[in-house]
Amino acid sequence: MKTVYFFGDGSADGQADMKNLLGGKGANLAEMTNLGIPVPAGLTITTEVCTFYYDNSQNFPDQLEQELKESVNKIEKSMTKDFGNSENPLLLSVRSGARTSMPGMMETVLNVGLTSKTIPGLIKKTDNERFVYDAYRRLIMMYSDVVMEKAAGVEPEEGQGIRHQLESILDDYKKKNGYHSDIDLSGKDWKTVSESFKKRITEVLGNEFPDDHYEQLWGGIKAVFESWNGKRAISYRKIEDIPQEWGTAVNVQAMVFGNTGDLSATGVAFTRNPATGENNFYGEWLQNAQGEDVVAGIRTPHPLNEATKEEESKHLQSLEEFLPDVYGQLDEIRIKLEKHYNDMQDIEFTIEEGRLWMLQTRTGKRTGGAAIQMAVDMVSDNMISKEEAIMRVTPDQIDELLHPRLNIEEEKKAVSLTRGLPAGPGGAVGQVVFTADDAENWHKKGKNIVLVREETSPEDVHGMHVAEAILTAKGGMTSHAALVARGWGKCCIVGCSAINIDFEKKQMTIDNEIIKEGDWISMNGSTGTVYPGQVNLESADPQSNRSYKDLISWADEFRTLKIRTNADSPQDALQAIEFGAEGIGLCRTEHMFFEPDRIIEMRKMILAEDLSDRRKAIMNLLPFQKDDFKGILEAMSGKPVTIRLLDPPLHEFITLNDQQIEELANELSVSSDKINNRINSLHELNPMLGHRGCRLGVAYPEITEMQARAIFEASSELTQSGIDVFPEVMIPLVGTAKEFENQEEIVRKVAKDVIKEKGVNFQYLVGTMIELPRACLTANEIAEKAEFFSFGTNDLTQTTYGFSRDDIGGFLPDYLDNKILDHDPFQSLDISGVGQLVSLAVDKGRKVRKNLKIGICGEHGGDPSSIHFCYQNELDYVSCSPYRVPIARFSAAQAVLIK
Ligand code: PEP
Ligand code: MG
Repeated sequence: MKTVYFFGDGSADGQADMKNLLGGKGANLAEMTNLGIPVPAGLTITTEVCTFYYDNSQNFPDQLEQELKESVNKIEKSMTKDFGNSENPLLLSVRSGARTSMPGMMETVLNVGLTSKTIPGLIKKTDNERFVYDAYRRLIMMYSDVVMEKAAGVEPEEGQGIRHQLESILDDYKKKNGYHSDIDLSGKDWKTVSESFKKRITEVLGNEFPDDHYEQLWGGIKAVFESWNGKRAISYRKIEDIPQEWGTAVNVQAMVFGNTGDLSATGVAFTRNPATGENNFYGEWLQNAQGEDVVAGIRTPHPLNEATKEEESKHLQSLEEFLPDVYGQLDEIRIKLEKHYNDMQDIEFTIEEGRLWMLQTRTGKRTGGAAIQMAVDMVSDNMISKEEAIMRVTPDQIDELLHPRLNIEEEKKAVSLTRGLPAGPGGAVGQVVFTADDAENWHKKGKNIVLVREETSPEDVHGMHVAEAILTAKGGMTSHAALVARGWGKCCIVGCSAINIDFEKKQMTIDNEIIKEGDWISMNGSTGTVYPGQVNLESADPQSNRSYKDLISWADEFRTLKIRTNADSPQDALQAIEFGAEGIGLCRTEHMFFEPDRIIEMRKMILAEDLSDRRKAIMNLLPFQKDDFKGILEAMSGKPVTIRLLDPPLHEFITLNDQQIEELANELSVSSDKINNRINSLHELNPMLGHRGCRLGVAYPEITEMQARAIFEASSELTQSGIDVFPEVMIPLVGTAKEFENQEEIVRKVAKDVIKEKGVNFQYLVGTMIELPRACLTANEIAEKAEFFSFGTNDLTQTTYGFSRDDIGGFLPDYLDNKILDHDPFQSLDISGVGQLVSLAVDKGRKVRKNLKIGICGEHGGDPSSIHFCYQNELDYVSCSPYRVPIARFSAAQAVLIK
């Protein structure tokens, strides 16, 4: 096992496609080196070493030490400096790098190699004592925190961590000497502070800060590996679904400094605008600063160039203005990287005394809108194919575009509270909280909240995740809050410098306005504007986005699955058509029975003593039902509409309070007791497995008859007026072929009668839901008669697992925590269990009826991975809620294109 990969001097042991072994950062540093881009020389310790480390009681493989030393020698040669040397010392950075980026979740140690032996030499060489001691105190702070405390498993009390203690030493020192900021401290000051730091470290942690360069290096390496299993990293991996087993690589690289003087700088940039997708080089930089200063949001970063200056940043000098040559070189690298990777890159750079060094490149995170814009632009520019464009955008990014925005008119009238940088798109409205824990607690109570922070840190991710939106007082477009929110497609505004947070009082002041915890605010994350109170949110309008329309139309070229929608009203149906639905896959008829003037007839029907009363009551519902179906069939004008006959448990119609019983008794001219007795006799212990689905139609054939008549009369009347219709009558919860036949006979007889009565012909089908394991097992028998199957995977999941779909919330978290389940099977289809039944039923059904039309209408019909499964199993269509239709169209194309 080769444990260490070197990069430097224009050639590297690794390359970009070795991310699994070298981590994303390491693989791309190697690739940039191979491309001849200036990268400080370095080495990557592989992820396999991380795995080895955890498999072998936190020990390293034997060969690591030797291989590390060899590569350090190569770094020394390349940088013409020597690690630990007293005259010309090389300093190193130690950074993590997993396969996919986990921003800020793992540890970093910089300036490794500063010791009592190397410090004097470096001062002599740089002629800059202040710089050297500033670097030294940074090393001490980071090292004691990351290596000596966190990695060593020391768990200090809240606020007693070593970093905090060292920060107070610094604060006290500043106060004592009348200094306002770090800039006021001289080299001597930093030297004194460093000595105090070291003393405190020995007192608190019981160990001395190491004065040996290799001891520091090993400490840093170990700490990075340890941080893979830190609390934050674990919780981030859970949210992002990153496997625990992947491990992290460690990158050890020659330090270059952006803080050695006015000709030094550091910055982060995107090769295109990550918020809008525009093809503009977009980034931020700071003169005389270290990389962490840009992302930490302590100083306001400057815009990279003239083209991307905004209202808030137009007075700040750009790198293009200040160092045009270096900017030009950076711009060339930008073009080279985009050409090479054929994708937008997120880059980090440092300028040391006017010399440019690249420290990182990776595929940049982007908003949904930007992802779509870039993919479509890159197809126009012949950089990528349509297929690649489709594969590059995730269903979640499509979803983002469909997200709500603040109502435009209301927003115009609203008086803005403050403005910041537009870091995450769309609108959001919520109640303000000031800590991540409060965010989590309020969210648990069902509240919509906006998390307001000074700036966010990886410790806040749990609160950020549940928040409707994130608002920070500090930070730029590349701050932690901005990166994380963009990754999640969440509304986010950063760098709202007017905000003053008082954590004790749980309130913030903006100018003279006070916003307390629990107060409502509204945010437009696309413009960076914050409003007091609640501005109405409204649904997105993807149809006005040209790139989206191009991309989704390309998806339609590739997909083979049809996309239908689950809709019970003409409005929903029309919305779904706008989103591209090609039919209705499930029209649930039950809500039609619950309206006040209808439910009474339904109750009369259920409680009726004899057939004639029962018929009378149910037939009173016929005109209502006919109107319902007319509306929906008309809205779909000839597209298939699957109408499901009544399905819910009987008891849902007769769950009555005393007053309702009284009213019903009056209406029916019977005693309340009689009604009570009837209700009691219909009581079920397990209604979801009780009198529901086709069992209703078997017991009360009048219901089936009435519904069938309503469907067919609506169909014939619409046909008569020149409107095309295509109803598909669906029998629910069938477990045996006989049940189906029983109901089908009624439906077909009514169809015949209506066609004869009205003298109008139209096409229709009679088919069934497949939502019980027995239906899957006997699908061949059912398919003898049924013209179509629609998998009701909500009930099929419920009955296969024996998990109540309404009660799984009680134990699902334990199942997920214990890895008994890796996802909620009601959200994403359980391929190995429920999926097997689906495959079996498709097979058995099509053996009997070759052209059996098959779809899915459970919630899984809008879930990307379930859609892939449906494609692989040759279903004809998936059906999902109107707002999932675009995602389904898109996922269906990805299902075809995925290799
Ligand atoms: C199903 O069971 O998957 C289904 C679509 O029906 P419902 O959710 O109405 O039970
Ligand atoms: Mg069902």
